[in-house]
Amino acid sequence: MPMKIQKTESNNQLVVERIHHAKSYRLIVDRKLCVGCELCSLICPRESITITRQPKKEGQKAQRPMIDVDEVKCQYCGICVTICPYGAVQVTIDGEDIASVVEKESFPQLIREITVDVTKCPTDCNDCEEACPLDLIKVTSNPETSKVTVNIREEQCPCCRICEVKCPEGAILVRRIFTGKLKINQEKCPSGCRDCLDVCPITGALYLSEEDSKVYVNELFCTYCGVCNIICPEEGALELSRSTIRHTPVRSGAWNKALEKLTSTVEMTKELRGKGRKRTMEAVRKRLEPRKK
Ligand code: SF4
Repeated sequence: MPMKIQKTESNNQLVVERIHHAKSYRLIVDRKLCVGCELCSLICPRESITITRQPKKEGQKAQRPMIDVDEVKCQYCGICVTICPYGAVQVTIDGEDIASVVEKESFPQLIREITVDVTKCPTDCNDCEEACPLDLIKVTSNPETSKVTVNIREEQCPCCRICEVKCPEGAILVRRIFTGKLKINQEKCPSGCRDCLDVCPITGALYLSEEDSKVYVNELFCTYCGVCNIICPEEGALELSRSTIRHTPVRSGAWNKALEKLTSTVEMTKELRGKGRKRTMEAVRKRLEPRKK
């Protein structure tokens, strides 16, 4: 029996807690990092996360949707932690980060592949630092040794690739976590509406055309997080589909269910077929392996 269940909220943080005799569980959402996308709410097995659109005030920009976590339903499994591309959620037991769903391979971790060849970096360049829309990069250089260091807070990086594209020396390589398709049917957008643009966390992934004042997508930078999809007031104006997710190995039916909610059916079938093929190949390889004495 839990001794105490509680929720505390501030502008910067949302904390839900379950305090038992022997252990205390905590889920912390960093509201500064949370963009209000739908990913955690889509796959929470207890349906304890809700994302709510904020009322738009006359003459003001649209606000990002707000996350809420039901302190009674939450089981502190950490699945939301694994899927958040912005690193906004943390689950702890007695103050220690837990990743049991990842350790048991019942849920994967997102793969963020970012490489920087600092030997290509000029000592006076910090274009990537300036370009990062989430302020995750810090470039330092030592004038005496001419050595450049590029620190990237990878656990919070959704892999939008802006730094890669803006780097004049081709020193950065980023592989996306999610691939997919985002389409805006401009004929359905109410005149003057740019709500999706207001909430998109990645500068340049959506932009306003000077010609027709409509919002367009630059898929080069889109992370397919889906916050635009939540905020869009017009049914059918925005179509988002995720195709692939780069993740660590996983052995669970629960992940297949999650994939169903995160990606399109066609793409999920492809991933499941690919997994089946891999399993068959592994079984054949094992059968053909010479027996150890
Ligand atoms: S896609 Fe939706 S939010 Fe974006 S401009 Fe069109 S109607 Fe507005």
